[in-house]
Order: sequence, then C-alpha cells, then structure tokens
Amino acid sequence: MPAYRCEKCGLTSRAFLTAAGAREHGAEHRARAHGGDFPDGECLVANEPFLPQTSQEWKAVLAVVALLAASWVWHHVFG
Ligand SMILES: [Zn+2]
Repeated sequence: MPAYRCEKCGLTSRAFLTAAGAREHGAEHRARAHGGDFPDGECLVANEPFLPQTSQEWKAVLAVVALLAASWVWHHVFG
C-alpha cells in the first residue's frame, strides 16, 4: 500500500489504496506545509499491507466475509 513520505517533516502518511491517492495527499501536504515547493527526500513508500485499524473497519470486513460464506453455503447446500 503506497504512502506519502516527507523527509523534511519526518512524516509518513496513512496508506492509500492507490499510488495516485498517495501522490494527491503529497500534493496537498506540499501546498499546505511547503507553499507548493517540493521538499528534499519526498517520495512514495510501500507501506504495510492493509489491515483494518478500527472496530468499525473490522465489522465491515467481517460482514463481507459473512456474506461470502453465506453465499457459498447457499450455493453448495441449496443450489
Ligand atoms: Zn513536509
């Protein structure tokens, strides 16, 4: 998962689904923190694989897994 890294500020953004999302975040950071200039060491980095961070995200993941399981059971038992 790509993330935006600004060496000058010593920060790494949260992970984004796409590199385009991380680049857009970088552009916003650049405009806000550096007046639109390109900080030395700015880059995109590959981050940890996406894992749910909050209980709400975990519930969403579990709901999808439950739906897939129910669909599989329905197809193989009743189908
Ligand atoms: Zn910065």
